[in-house]
Amino acid sequence: MRFSKMLIPTLKEAPKDAVLPSHIYLVRGGFIYQVASGIYDFLPLGKKVLDKVRAIVKEELDAAGCQEVQLGFVTPAELWKRSGRYEKYGAELLRFEDRKGNEFVLGPTHEEMMVEMVKQFVSSYKQLPLNLYQINLKFRDEARPRFGLMRGREFIMKDGYSFHADREDMIREFNLMESTYRKIFTRMGLDFRVVEADSGAIGGEGSKEFMVLADSGEDTIVVCEGCDYAANIEAAKRKAPEPPAEAPEAELNSFHTPGIKSIDDLAKFFYVDPYHLVKAVAKKALYDEGKSEIVLFFLRGSDELQETKAANAVGANELEDVSEEELEAAGLVPGFMGPVLIVRNVGAFEGAPVFREEIAHPGLRMVLDENLKGAKQMIAGANEKDYHLVGVDFGALEALPYADIAQVREGDACPRCGGKLSYTKGIEVGHIFQLGTRYSEPLEATFLDENGKRKPFVMGTYGIGVSRLLAAVIEQHHDDRGAIWPAPVAPFETVIVIGNVKDAAQKEAGEAIYRTLLEGGVDVLLDDRPERFGFKMKDFELIGFPYAIVVGKKLSEGRVELVSRESLEKEELPIDDAVARLMEKLG
Ligand code: ATP
Ligand code: MG
Repeated sequence: MRFSKMLIPTLKEAPKDAVLPSHIYLVRGGFIYQVASGIYDFLPLGKKVLDKVRAIVKEELDAAGCQEVQLGFVTPAELWKRSGRYEKYGAELLRFEDRKGNEFVLGPTHEEMMVEMVKQFVSSYKQLPLNLYQINLKFRDEARPRFGLMRGREFIMKDGYSFHADREDMIREFNLMESTYRKIFTRMGLDFRVVEADSGAIGGEGSKEFMVLADSGEDTIVVCEGCDYAANIEAAKRKAPEPPAEAPEAELNSFHTPGIKSIDDLAKFFYVDPYHLVKAVAKKALYDEGKSEIVLFFLRGSDELQETKAANAVGANELEDVSEEELEAAGLVPGFMGPVLIVRNVGAFEGAPVFREEIAHPGLRMVLDENLKGAKQMIAGANEKDYHLVGVDFGALEALPYADIAQVREGDACPRCGGKLSYTKGIEVGHIFQLGTRYSEPLEATFLDENGKRKPFVMGTYGIGVSRLLAAVIEQHHDDRGAIWPAPVAPFETVIVIGNVKDAAQKEAGEAIYRTLLEGGVDVLLDDRPERFGFKMKDFELIGFPYAIVVGKKLSEGRVELVSRESLEKEELPIDDAVARLMEKLG
């Protein structure tokens, strides 16, 4: 291709709202163009990169035995109602009617559609396993579309779905997809981590995310410094933290703590580590069909509530904050909430404690962090204004619901090896999921097993953010001048820059090198524009082709320059050597 003929509208200025390098360089480099919030057109260079990413994904999936299909983008709402997701999906699901009043949604993911298709044509275990995928548009009416291709509303996803006769075979496929995804992201030149992920309300261990390591990533990943344990913070586990100091001993009693509401103030007031305090976090849990309730979560004062874990613990779609007024209306005392009340032990025998614990808030849902199980000598809100309880013993509260709802902290111990855990940031580019029969059961997608027994398909689902990958690659590969594409996904593998197109010798040499490289199978762009040399080099740096061959003044000595975009180093070489060197670098 010739630069002069291509639509590559490079820009000097970045869009005002662009903060991430990938957003800035994709727009400035003439790859994408914003049509509406979270909706982008791909210009020729953007489309070329997209096709290369898509081709790598397809090659590896096909090699692993997956088959490509293409499903409709517009999907009948009826299927979503049957799977129970029409309500659950919330405002991200774009719903509309056709002229006859039939309801549809723009597919944000395609489990329902794929199950429906397979159900039509697969009825026997002999036809299993099956792994079908598509690389196609998705629409999610995201609350905050941002960062260019990173979080769009319309975006391109590879979504795959596998169908199996039993769980064991599904897990085999899940592992195959993990290794296939590793190959895909490695080929794209990405530094990534495979992390344990939140499996949502479905539960189970079987969900992994592929995270491209980048400071700009929206996900926090917990990694171990001692072994290869890595998990999304929403799913991360830890060894139970060691007590920082002995708990101060006290008999169960009520204590006047006027105006002392925060954990910090309480720790100072009692001279104890927050580890020995009980933190109360009230949330409104939102369920299907607009149902909601206030839930009280209790954890150690040294911990924070992990909202995804907490939502999973009560099977909620989402958690919302609750106002003090709402709490008071529910009979709670903000700042002094605790899991127990004390009652005076009326008629106690001699030597018995004067006070006895009783579980508070019988009408309210409570969840306690697993780390409070059996905890002794704790200080908790007394459920009475200006009072806390000391000497609270959770040994007596075994019957309460406990779950892992605390956020893993930096410095906590790895659940596998005990090593030190720390945080890092990542961009989610892939997610693989052991689904089981979550969709096949409600959609009545069944097959006959060897014994002629009807069973629901056991499924896996596997996603890759194809358009997000363009952004993720740049987040990892750029400098302050522009993008630096790894060759396998570069818009062109190399550009030939003719220093001065009015110089007949330069032009001719440039054209000759261009023909040679084309014949050698190199994906090459010839910058034959009648622009200043400096301007063309700026575009090379901004767009980020891996290499440039510069045909300039040194041509009179028979030499050209081979420039590496990454190092910006120049090698002055005779034409043939420059071509040979480039071919060698491109492998
Ligand atoms: P996120 O947590 O980033 O919102 P998700 O977990 O909702 O993503 P999945 O349903 O797992 O996303 O979709 C599979 C892949 O599609 C993700 O791993 C991600 O790479 C990509 N993806 C999801 N949402 C978007 C979006 N709004 N824009 C671009 N890519 C997206
Ligand atoms: Mg995901």
